[in-house]
Formats: sequence, C-alpha cells, structure tokens
Amino acid sequence: MRKSVVAVVGRPNVGKSTIFNRLVGERISIVEDTPGVTRDRIYSEAEWLNTTFNIIDTGGIELGDEPLLVQMRGQAEVAIDEADVILFMVNGRDGITGADEEVARLLYKSNKPVVLAVNKIDNPEMQEKIYEFYALGFGEPFPISGTHGLGLGDMLDEVVKHFPERVMPDEDDDTIHFSLIGRPNVGKSSLVNSILGEERVIVSEIEGTTRDAIDTSFSKDDRDYVIIDTAGMRKKGKVYETTEKYSVLRALKAIERSDVVLVVLDADTGIIEQDKKIAGYAHEAGKGVVIVVNKWDAIETDDKTMKKFEDKVRQQFQFLDYAPIVYLSAKTKKRMHTLLPSILLASENHTKRVQTNILNEVIMDALAYKPVPSLKGQKLKIFYATQVSIQPPTFVVFVNDPDLLHFSYERFLENRIREAFGFEGTPIKIYARQRK
Ligand code: GDP
Ligand code: GDP
Repeated sequence: MRKSVVAVVGRPNVGKSTIFNRLVGERISIVEDTPGVTRDRIYSEAEWLNTTFNIIDTGGIELGDEPLLVQMRGQAEVAIDEADVILFMVNGRDGITGADEEVARLLYKSNKPVVLAVNKIDNPEMQEKIYEFYALGFGEPFPISGTHGLGLGDMLDEVVKHFPERVMPDEDDDTIHFSLIGRPNVGKSSLVNSILGEERVIVSEIEGTTRDAIDTSFSKDDRDYVIIDTAGMRKKGKVYETTEKYSVLRALKAIERSDVVLVVLDADTGIIEQDKKIAGYAHEAGKGVVIVVNKWDAIETDDKTMKKFEDKVRQQFQFLDYAPIVYLSAKTKKRMHTLLPSILLASENHTKRVQTNILNEVIMDALAYKPVPSLKGQKLKIFYATQVSIQPPTFVVFVNDPDLLHFSYERFLENRIREAFGFEGTPIKIYARQRK
C-alpha cells in the first residue's frame, strides 16, 4: 500500500526544515547511523496517530544559482507533483510577504489540498498574529512553533484528514512491482521501452494521473508485472528534474512501492560514486535487487569482459553480494531476455518462507561446523531459530544473550542459510532475541 506524501513548501527561513526534522524525529538518525550511506535529508517517513506517511522538505531542493523566485517556483512544483497534501508554511512574525503571495499563487493552480501553517508562534500572546493569514485564501491558519513543538498535533490532524482513501491491495495479488533506478543517462527509459517492446509482452494498460507516477502493467508468460516510473523516465523537462536531490527523492519513492529494484549501471562509463549511493538506497530498503549492466553493446567484449565487470561490481557493491547481475543492451536488445527471469527469481526469493525444522537443522549443522567463539569469557548459546516474516525474509534466532552474537558470526549464519535455501536476489535479516 502506498503511503501518503506530505510536502512542506514556503519561502526560505520560515522554518520548513525545523518542522521536517521534528516530524521525522529519530528516524533520520537511525538511518544515518548505517555505515556507507549518507541519506539526503529531504525525504523521510513520519508518523501521526498510527498513520505513517512520507514527508518532503522541498526547501532542500536547490536549483543551482537560479534566482530566489525560480527556486521557490521549482519547489512549489515539486510539492504539487509529488504530494497528496501540501503543508504551506509562513512566518507569523513577518506577516504576509510578497514571496508568500507568490507561493500561494502557484498553489491555487494545483488541485492538491493545502494546509496553512503559521510558524514561530512561540507563545499564546502571539496567537492573534495568525488572523491576517486568512487573506491567503487557504482557510484556517494553524499556529505552530517549530522550535517549541507547539500546535503540531492540530496541524497534523488537519493534514491527515486530507489523505486520499487507500485501497487495500488484494492479498493474493502476485503482481511483481519493480522500478529502475540509476543516475541519468544509464538507459532507464530505453530499458522500459525495450522490456515493453519485447516479444510476447502484453501491455495491458498505462495508467497516467497527475497525482501518481506513471505505472505500466504488462504480462509475460502468465506473470503480471508493473513497472513503477522513476524520475524523468517519461516526463522529462522540468527545471528541478536534473537536481540530484530530486532524483534521489523520486528513486526513494519508487523503491518504496517496489518488490524488486533494478539498479541500472552503464557498461560504457563504468561505475561511479553516484551509482554506489543509489545502490545503497535499494539495499537499505530491504527489497529484491537485480543489478543491470546496460549498454553492453557499446564496449568491446571478449570471453573475459563479463568476469572482469562482475569482479568490479562485486568489489564496489559488497553490500549487494546477493544481487544477480545481468549484462544486456536496451538498444540492440541483446540478452534482454535474461532480465525478466532475474526479476522473477528475486521476487520469489523475496517472498520465500522456509520450514522451521529444516531451518533449525541448518543452524545446528552450522554450529557443529563452526562453534561459536567466546566473547569476554562468555559463550553464546543458540537455542532455536524461526522465520518471522517475508519481504525480505527475516529470521529470529533465540539465544542466551543477544549481545554475544558477533557480527561476523551472524554473517556466517546468513551465509549458511543462503547456501541451504538459495536467497539469490534478496537481502535477508537476522535478529537475535533473548529466550525468556
Ligand atoms: P527553512 O529555510 O524554511 O527550512 O527554515 P529553517 O527551518 O532553516 O528555519 C529558519 C530559522 O528560523 C532558523 O534559525 C530556525 O531556528 C528558526 N525557527 C524555526 N522555527 C521556529 C519557531 O517556531 N520559532 C522561532 N522563534 N524560530 C524558529
Ligand atoms: P535514462 O536517463 O537513464 O532514462 O537514460 P535513457 O534511456 O534516456 O538513455 C540515455 C542515452 O543512452 C540515450 O542516448 C540512449 O539512446 C542511450 N542508450 C540507452 N540504452 C543503450 C544501450 O543499451 N546501448 C547504447 N549504446 N546506448 C544506449
């Protein structure tokens, strides 16, 4: 089920990022503690009254050295394009400014619900300052204080009221949702066209709404797939689309709705730092992953090229050691037929359940093969393991003391589980829990 998206807009210094950080709370720091990945702080999950939603700080999207007005226009457009509800922030201490009116004009033209928040109302005496903001034409202004955390509850109640109705997905639905992520020009759009143009692919519908990304459904060999559109794949042309933060935001949005993520690389230009960052997002999200090396036609190949490229990929993306790699060309369609089977494999493994008794045999064999090392004179005891969920497959190992399960031993267990059950294309998670 897709989460609702709230975008915060407003001219600079009204307190957008202060509010963003407050609503996102501790989640950001949890993510940023994960080694190897620095998260752009403009898109994150937040929660209010049992509802989780995503929030965008549009102020973080900077358009080079464009003038302020162009920046604000671009940010408002992002909000209009990406959000279900727009949180329009103004500064209660300044009254209505020309820049506020400019933002308001852009928002009138959208059909999105707008909630007006008047920030920096730090104490009750300032309450009367909010009345003049009725003139902006967005109904009741909500007084808030980002620094003191005041008024946020009432404001969020209003925001949540405007979330669109969600249709629960069909439980039995085994449609595979996938997205293609990668830096600009690696060939994502070309790959989509090539997949859809393949023989025996039946494109059933193309749903296009201004509200959502453009998803395309198709079927092949009796399996149903949906391609989730990512930034710039079909609607290239807006100023903000070339900014890195915007492409990250679109990638994160697409990843979240996917079962399997294709990390697209360009054989011709090779792997660069940006590729690693993008691949990191795919891994962190816990989705199935396939690495696609596109433009295989553009380089000279002999019988060692593929192996050499694989070595490079494995070295650069160690965290994706479970992801299969396919080498193909969207342009010449060479080896395109290898793509869908890899997506299918990743999806099946992402949803795979293993039998508890066999899992425990594997764990006991692993223990016999490599006894647990002692840590500070104490010895880990593993009693029992069970798979608690899928997407991705998640295991809980019951032990005497979770602190004694060292990372390297956990890694060893993961490898034994992978050898026994074959989880190619999906991350798996292992948690240690104390047996009571
Ligand atoms: P942005 O440019 O809209 O993202 O604004 P920031 O979140 O960076 O905030 C701009 C300035 O306003 C910072 O110095 C904040 O500390 C300050 N600020 C934010 N919220 C409040 C508030 O509720 N009250 C007061 N007094 N200052 C605030
Ligand atoms: P996107 O920005 O990732 O969506 O990339 P595009 O699909 O727009 O492709 C960028 C450029 O790479 C275009 O000029 C394509 O024609 C070219 N391209 C895409 N796939 C291939 C391929 O398999 N081989 C070659 N040689 N060029 C390709």
